[in-house]
Amino acid sequence: MPAPAPAPVRNAPHIGRPLRAADVIHGAAGELHLSGAECTACGTRIFPAAPVCPSCNAEQLKPLPLGATGTLYAYSTVHVAPAVWQVPYVIGYVDLPEGVRVFGKVAGTDGVAAGLAPDLTVRVHVEKDAAADASAAAPTYRYWFAPA
Ligand SMILES: [Zn+2]
Repeated sequence: MPAPAPAPVRNAPHIGRPLRAADVIHGAAGELHLSGAECTACGTRIFPAAPVCPSCNAEQLKPLPLGATGTLYAYSTVHVAPAVWQVPYVIGYVDLPEGVRVFGKVAGTDGVAAGLAPDLTVRVHVEKDAAADASAAAPTYRYWFAPA
């Protein structure tokens, strides 16, 4: 008789979306920031970075360091998710001062949207994903937003 399957690990709502190492910039003091891209042909700014500009199809994009704070544009509470995700949790779009709107989890609210409001200032948190490093060929990172 086969052993019973292990119980699924449910991701805590504060654990953010995964990032590639290329989407992270290391600051001078060791802090981590998101890195987007800016098209050198038309100036379009995007996150995450892509090899081709979504506006003009140019392939010349340069890294764009993104700020540590932004403004909450919109958000919603998720109550239904895959079995390994702990619900509820909050997702949202944050406008960064560089002109990029970034989607991600919003933490610091115990999984509910209490205390959130459009235009709220939020901090961008970026962390190395220690749990994923053991199995990943390259370091991976996670990011999320929390009220500043
Ligand atoms: Zn472009």
